[in-house]
Amino acid sequence: MADLDRRDLLIGLSGLAAAASAGACRAAEPPARKIGYAIVGLGYYATRIIMPQFANCRFSRLAALVSGDPAKARTLAAQYDVPERSLYSYQTFDRIRDNPDVDVVYVILPNSMHAEYTIRAAQAGKHVVTEKPMSVSVAEAEAMIAACSKAGKKLAVGYRSHFQPHNLHAIRLVRDGAIGRPRYLLAEHGFVQGDPTKWRLKKALAGGGSLMDMGVYSVQAARYLTGEEPVAVTARSTTDRKDPRFAEVEDLSAWTLEFPSGAINHGMSSYSSNHNFVRLTGDKGRIELEPATPYEGQTLSLTRDGRKEQLTPPPGPAVNQFVGQLDHMAECILNDRQPLISGEMGLQDMRIVDAIYRSAAGGGTIRL
Ligand code: NAD
Repeated sequence: MADLDRRDLLIGLSGLAAAASAGACRAAEPPARKIGYAIVGLGYYATRIIMPQFANCRFSRLAALVSGDPAKARTLAAQYDVPERSLYSYQTFDRIRDNPDVDVVYVILPNSMHAEYTIRAAQAGKHVVTEKPMSVSVAEAEAMIAACSKAGKKLAVGYRSHFQPHNLHAIRLVRDGAIGRPRYLLAEHGFVQGDPTKWRLKKALAGGGSLMDMGVYSVQAARYLTGEEPVAVTARSTTDRKDPRFAEVEDLSAWTLEFPSGAINHGMSSYSSNHNFVRLTGDKGRIELEPATPYEGQTLSLTRDGRKEQLTPPPGPAVNQFVGQLDHMAECILNDRQPLISGEMGLQDMRIVDAIYRSAAGGGTIRL
């Protein structure tokens, strides 16, 4: 089987399939009942980015809130028309099983809490979306998949780039051979951390440093653009332990992933410098996404025969990547399909992240 044909079967096309299915549903009548989401954790990403998007969703609605801060929950409930009976604390969370308005629980908590709330949600009979990174260990990710499978519930990871037009178009270009055979992929993600007291800099809550938080975007891009799974990982990490921000977690991680086709990926993540860049070079040209994965403002270029062209991708499956992700899960529930941004996809990322940590700790090249 030719490389490009094989790539068609792998994860690189998950977003394209999502786009196709969402596009088909866009033309259809809206469902009689929208899928009800409970949001667990009312921090920045939940309140500023995700919750306002329900207004743009066709298949999803905000049905319940889970928070340790009752006053904040009540204020947001009033704003979003969530009834008092659908407000929960972390202690009363399990009672969500008795709430027929809630179909799916979306876990937007610090990383080390994703596993606990995913498993409790599944045990309460609800489908689950968990934020990235899926968990803080391979064992946790496996336990999350097992809990959802035992409960007969669907599990998805908040990989919004699979619904983002520039990323989808980049995948399409690679699939269509626009850059020839992929040979080398550079993927960089990072930002400058400030306040050393943040949970992202606490090992117990974050599970790790820049690799857990931003490195997963680099790993994801390498997987969905090449459409291949790495077979070997070699990594280095560098951290100034005298810097109060980095007493517990790593700052800069850099790694090499080797793919079965012979393509190589250099990936990195940082908490002390700004990066958001992906470049995939093939034997006939290259594509660049810069920035590649922010909330908005992506750009995509294609360089062939020495000519660089800025591309405007066709619209994605939904009005934006957040709506695409929310409605994709809702459609999967409505039509009993498996989410494309699956628990297994998140587990594979955790295996790669784990190999990067082990290699950087002196483990040499790790075979996957
Ligand atoms: P945040 O600090 O703004 O919010 C975290 C929430 O968890 C807060 O409401 C906080 O009160 C609550 N919480 C409960 N128990 C806590 C505890 N023991 N310690 C600290 N907070 C606790 O964080 P955020 O930026 O919203 O990130 C939340 C999750 O969402 C993370 O897993 C992060 O990786 C993910 N995230 C994803 C994206 C994306 O683009 N997909 C973007 C941002 C964040």
